[in-house]
Amino acid sequence: MEYPGNLFVVAAPSGAGKSSLVKALMELDSRVVPSVSHTTRAPRGQELHGREYYFVSKETFDQMVIQGAFLEWALVHGNRYGTSKMAIEQRINQGADVVLEIDFQGAIQVKRIFPNAVLIFILPPSWEELRSRLERRAEDTAEVIELRLQNAATEMAHAKEFDFVIINELFERALFDLKAIVHAQRLKFSAQRIARGDTFQALNIL
Ligand code: GDP
Ligand code: ADP
Ligand code: 5GP
Repeated sequence: MEYPGNLFVVAAPSGAGKSSLVKALMELDSRVVPSVSHTTRAPRGQELHGREYYFVSKETFDQMVIQGAFLEWALVHGNRYGTSKMAIEQRINQGADVVLEIDFQGAIQVKRIFPNAVLIFILPPSWEELRSRLERRAEDTAEVIELRLQNAATEMAHAKEFDFVIINELFERALFDLKAIVHAQRLKFSAQRIARGDTFQALNIL
């Protein structure tokens, strides 16, 4: 099935800079829109219901699982996170490029359902830098930071299942790399045939 929009799936160990990079990309490019996940974790300082996440109770989440509302869901760092189906298909059908910031378990589930999804893995430049970013972000307790660092090794072991890897050392360089991946995807034959249908027709290209 071909859609006019693309599906980008971005995963990374917590603290690698995934949310900052995706946010910067969306500020530069209005065709890129987020998929807002549901989660059972509590909101952090500045987070808003419906913007970063839909914050729901375990009961509501379980109910949505039973109803088949999720494209994928997973248990991450002790909380449940899921992508609702509604958010995705409708928007890629309308030509948007939808970005999912999800963990590796979710990424692999999405690739099975949408084989054309582009999987991007963000790596930190080192363990030391990963720890220092989690500490600098100052949004999680020391205990939660330790859990996230422990889980980082498992997450990073799955980088090889992704299509692209970006090392987020210099932020601007990593952002350039992310933009390049999005841009290249839009130049694929199948995408150009939809986006530039008139030109293709005039040139008799099928
Ligand atoms: P972060 O690690 O600092 O970005 O913290 P978050 O609490 O925002 O995300 C926690 C984890 O849940 C990350 O590994 C995300 O990639 C993952 N995640 C977020 N949304 C989804 C989702 O809809 N589906 C899946 N499978 N994972 C998600
Ligand atoms: P994630 O979403 O992967 O958990 P964040 O985007 O929240 O990560 O980034 C973690 C912290 O690291 C934030 O405080 C962010 O400002 C910082 N950060 C992100 N990218 C870089 C970078 N290239 N250099 C230095 N700090 C960064
Ligand atoms: P955080 O609690 O720091 O916001 O997110 C922790 C992890 O959960 C991140 O790795 C994030 O990518 C992942 N995550 C967030 N939303 C979802 C989701 O809907 N599905 C899955 N599978 N993982 C998610």
